[in-house]
Amino acid sequence: NNFAKLDLIEPLQRAIAAQNYTSPTPIQAQAIPALLKGRDVLGCAQTGTGKTAAFSLPVLQHLAAQKPPKGKRPIRALILSPTRELAAQIGESIELYGKHLPLRHLVMFGGVNEKPQIRALERGVDILVACPGRLLDLQGRGFVDLKDVDFFVLDEADRMLDMGFVPDVRRILKLMRSERQNLLFSATMPPSVAKLANTFMSDPVRIDI
Ligand code: AMP
Repeated sequence: NNFAKLDLIEPLQRAIAAQNYTSPTPIQAQAIPALLKGRDVLGCAQTGTGKTAAFSLPVLQHLAAQKPPKGKRPIRALILSPTRELAAQIGESIELYGKHLPLRHLVMFGGVNEKPQIRALERGVDILVACPGRLLDLQGRGFVDLKDVDFFVLDEADRMLDMGFVPDVRRILKLMRSERQNLLFSATMPPSVAKLANTFMSDPVRIDI
């Protein structure tokens, strides 16, 4: 199995093997080593290229390596998605790849009852997958604290821009500390996306698929 070269921990290797993946896709082969080294990554890749695993596996490995914090667990990874469908898909991938790790995640978006989301936040989650609107709503009401986030993923950044989410993304960026690892994925890289990336990424490794 060609994933062995990627230095992923055994619980992740086992989850990958269970999916019958034999080799990393090109985006995975390039992004995973850079992310495991702690670099920011700016990836130009469409859905279907395996980009979800490209960021989920390093996020899971990064969190599994950290000492579990005492008391209620803080949100340590934030993955922003423009749509509910994509957020749900990312959540399913994290569930799948993280099944042998003691990490909790929550998928959060609007248009559904907020109570279960609030209950999960009160219990504590390690990884939050969210759409910007519901995230800012619950943050504004004190249910979400992003100050311990040290892994930030902005997925489908071009769609985020098209849907008018840039002001929300900027507000969310201000709620996190500045020392963190950043990942941005976009199917296209127009100047507007590059400009947004420039505002928060530090010397990113650029990957084009
Ligand atoms: P994504 O681009 O993240 O939406 O992934 C597209 C599909 O590719 C998903 O159904 C994954 O389960 C699958 N996939 C991801 N990585 C691999 C891999 N290394 N080998 C085979 N299939 C994969």
